[in-house]
Amino acid sequence: QSQEISQVRIDYHAALQALVEEGTRMVCTGRMHTDRICRFESLCYSTEAEEFVFFHSNASIMLPNLGSRRFQPALVDLSSVDDHNTQYFNFVELPAAALRFMPKPVFVPDVALIMNRFNPDNLMHVFHDDLLPIFYTMQQFPDLGQESRLFFMEGWNEGLHFDLYKSLSNKQPLLKEQLKTLGKLLCFTKSYVGLTKITTWYQYGFVQPQGPKANILVSGNEIRQFTKFVMDKMNISTEGSSNEEYIVLFSRTINRLIVNEAELILALAQEFQMKTITVSLEDQPFADIVRLISNASMLVSMHGAQLVMSLFLPRGATVVELFPYAINPEHYTPYKTLAMLPGMDLSYIAWQNLEEANTITYPERTWDQGGILHLDAAEQERIIKSKEVPRHLCCRNPEWLFRVYQDTKVDITSLIEVIRLTVKSKPGPKKQKWTTGLYPGKVRGAKCQASVQGASEAKLTVAWQIPWNLKYLKVRDVKYEVWIQEQGENTYMPYILSQQNHTFVENIKPFTSYLVWIRCIFNKTLLGPFAEVLVCST
Ligand code: UDP
Repeated sequence: QSQEISQVRIDYHAALQALVEEGTRMVCTGRMHTDRICRFESLCYSTEAEEFVFFHSNASIMLPNLGSRRFQPALVDLSSVDDHNTQYFNFVELPAAALRFMPKPVFVPDVALIMNRFNPDNLMHVFHDDLLPIFYTMQQFPDLGQESRLFFMEGWNEGLHFDLYKSLSNKQPLLKEQLKTLGKLLCFTKSYVGLTKITTWYQYGFVQPQGPKANILVSGNEIRQFTKFVMDKMNISTEGSSNEEYIVLFSRTINRLIVNEAELILALAQEFQMKTITVSLEDQPFADIVRLISNASMLVSMHGAQLVMSLFLPRGATVVELFPYAINPEHYTPYKTLAMLPGMDLSYIAWQNLEEANTITYPERTWDQGGILHLDAAEQERIIKSKEVPRHLCCRNPEWLFRVYQDTKVDITSLIEVIRLTVKSKPGPKKQKWTTGLYPGKVRGAKCQASVQGASEAKLTVAWQIPWNLKYLKVRDVKYEVWIQEQGENTYMPYILSQQNHTFVENIKPFTSYLVWIRCIFNKTLLGPFAEVLVCST
């Protein structure tokens, strides 16, 4: 790789002069380290000190200029995992004049994306924490194109899935360890530090028990554009495959096994009258698994990272996730959350082994494979007797590890029964009515007219026009929601109406001011914005 970098011609003298005269320039987006990405010119890295270096000169820029708040706790998260204290980025500062006394800088000409992978040996982490965020960080900044280069600073080796990372740009990603071979002081001509978190849907339980992120901002559309990119890079075409429908059983071969896999495959094939095939990360090339999943009607698998591959399923397919004994499916939902993202258009079914007789435990294994012999006898006994792992924090809870690394004999009858509750006829891609989720605009030209009859009765007539975008849309069901609130009161009366006008009589008092809020609703669920509030006095 060192050759690869030095091949690109840069005028070394000019580059060095620019660094000495202009120093480092940084401008970041985001208000906090957790939502920040920084763009740098002439950010340097000392491979001896293993620190980034910011060189000050008269022309350097540091925005935000946080002073010592830069260390509270950091300038930027280097991974997409929120505020993890092993994933912080910072730099040390020096005057550019100090360059005279330092090793000669080696310039990196490629636009660099500098980041940490979170757990490159676990497929869920690979896709969720790294690949999707890298892909969309590159979309956010146009100069992070296909000719930019990824720099992985977390310090791991290539890991099991390096080919996937390599597919994101045309340049080979570089690992922290490899930087040493390039020189003692590397200077990135142009670089970005940090990853977008906008595509992540799950938090792993570092500060509160794991669960979906509070504010999910990604939909199936963006997920599928990413998977299309990955599949193009792998030369997997979705066209031209046979129309035969089939089920994929994604099996694990090392641990958390299904011990009656053959029986399960036969039962699925028979029940749904479909070919059922088995895949596993150990037995197939990754691209073959992607190709098979991308055309499958149903994906069945034990809970585990391999289930993140459901992001390659076609719309309309079904995900069936199996949980070992004493593991409550509601408490571990990374794959459910993925399947249920708006626009993923997947069905999701969880099945749990409720029969203690059908579980196989491994108390004698090492702690990280769920062994519990290192615990005191009372604690071991409590764990063995417990019928459900209580909610817990990541990542070393022995009861959780003990239970999640059990093997399972799947009770076929109960599994088929829960699948049947959701999948009524044949599972798999349906010719679905293409209902995109487009939202209404504001209603327009709202007016009100009041009339008073006698001392105690009044009427309020409100009328409005359709939202502007409705003219150009075919919408099955258009409704209007009107809220009437007496001025100064906290409560309001809500109405759902089909017409563009209505006369309200109930609860309308004479000589009173009302605030009237109106919004349009498409297809029962797509709520538009409220138009500007109308003030109506009877
Ligand atoms: N893995 C696998 N087969 C196995 C066990 C693990 O393919 O029999 C993969 C798994 O999909 C994940 C990685 O190895 O990518 C780490 O698995 P682990 O059990 O540590 O994590 P989990 O699957 O529970 O997230």
